[in-house]
Amino acid sequence: MRDEATEERTHEDESADGPTVPQVGEAGPHAGAGHGEPDKSAKKTEAAPAPSRAEVSNYEIVEHWFGVAAERLELPDDLAAVLRSSYREVQVQVPVKLGDGKVHVFSGYRVQHNGARGPYKGGIRFHPEVDLDEVRALAELMTWKTAIVNLPYGGAKGGVNVDPSKLEAHQVEAVARSFMDKIEKVLGPTRDIPAPDVGTNAQVMAWLMDEYGKLHGHTPACVTGKPIALEGSYGREAATGRGVVQVFQEAAPQIDLDPADARFAVQGFGNVGSWAARLMQELGATMVGVSDASGAIAAGEGIDAEKLAEHVRGGGEVGDFDGSAEEIEPDDLLGLECDVFIPAALGGMIHKGNADRMRCRMMVEGANSPTTPAADSILNDKGVLIVPDVLANAGGVVVSYFEWVQNLQHFRWSEDEVNERLGEIMHQGFQEVAERAQENDTPMRPAAYELGIERVVEAASTRGYI
Ligand code: NAD
Repeated sequence: MRDEATEERTHEDESADGPTVPQVGEAGPHAGAGHGEPDKSAKKTEAAPAPSRAEVSNYEIVEHWFGVAAERLELPDDLAAVLRSSYREVQVQVPVKLGDGKVHVFSGYRVQHNGARGPYKGGIRFHPEVDLDEVRALAELMTWKTAIVNLPYGGAKGGVNVDPSKLEAHQVEAVARSFMDKIEKVLGPTRDIPAPDVGTNAQVMAWLMDEYGKLHGHTPACVTGKPIALEGSYGREAATGRGVVQVFQEAAPQIDLDPADARFAVQGFGNVGSWAARLMQELGATMVGVSDASGAIAAGEGIDAEKLAEHVRGGGEVGDFDGSAEEIEPDDLLGLECDVFIPAALGGMIHKGNADRMRCRMMVEGANSPTTPAADSILNDKGVLIVPDVLANAGGVVVSYFEWVQNLQHFRWSEDEVNERLGEIMHQGFQEVAERAQENDTPMRPAAYELGIERVVEAASTRGYI
């Protein structure tokens, strides 16, 4: 299997292909973040990656699954080559003056993978490890994801290699506006519609919309995930976590689990993780472990997801949550005995070095590409039911689609209507993937990829594009 080899790679291998871009805050406040230097392009940054991530890139993970599905579908090589590559990859310089009075240069990316089914759609990530390979992989993932849940979109992704947690709000705003100024020509409500992802939120979307509007007039449908006050949609903030919980409910009978009895652990307590945890708790399930970048905690009798979310909203971290939970090593979270494990942090965190420790019965992937192919195979051998990212975390783009539809009509749906329609789409997506998996006698991930790829091929060939 492809990643058996790639997981052997070292950090040195990864960074050997070029210079790194120093990050804000590494050597004192705002020191050296590319100051006065040309854009250093698609290279890894020096910001330390989390120790528990695999040395296999998101790109290799997505490519692996595409390859498996392409083979099963017997796609001709020339067609597979078109579907593998991006339609457009934009890399821009994002110069921003920071608190030290100097201009710091970040790298920004927007990759549009495949637009056969409609305008490109995908989030924008602000994270120090963003690079072209990662954005490319996430863009491709969006192509398959939107097709799997049958939305009229293509796939895209964007990002800036900046660490927003080290910046003041007005500096994050400057990054967002500068990035939009550089990429607006390839965006627009009928071309490409960004949304939030890791390190960005409704406020960042508001700045992006405002910047786009300076050039094109008020255009709320140019980004989704906006604040409610700016034609955002009710239910968008919770949508990805809600979709995770909806597919969990669909899958629970497959392991004879009553959702109210479920014991679950969550890796990453940001937008996706915290909403998934709170909504699981609403069903009566018990959170026995949780982590974020600061650390991990566990408690057999349960951790209150609502109170933890309140603590984090107030600026706290999971590691310093003042409850009865015990602090554990982040990697020990994976070893907790539970029914459901929800990865909701970054890609590659479940790999061949730690998958064998997992003691869950089901994994519902909130994060994008959290599991390497080698880990996926270990977990399948252990009998863990995996609801893959391309289906499980599609709730965000589904409600983004609803927001875009509402914006185009300057009309607003109630939160109940949004949640109900989301449930219908997640139900349909789950059923179609589960049926395909049963027909093929495969796990759900290859079945989901097959379904998505088939739909994109049909659209592209009907258009006469391929
Ligand atoms: P976020 O920035 O709100 O939260 C990320 C969380 O992960 C934070 O709690 C952070 O502390 C934690 N984290 C980072 N490194 C970690 C580590 N080493 N160990 C444990 N936790 C760690 O981001 P988000 O929007 O919640 O996105 C999370 C994942 O879900 C990403 O993979 C993203 O691509 C995916 N996703 C997000 C959406 C969305 O609508 N936001 C939609 C689909 C998929």
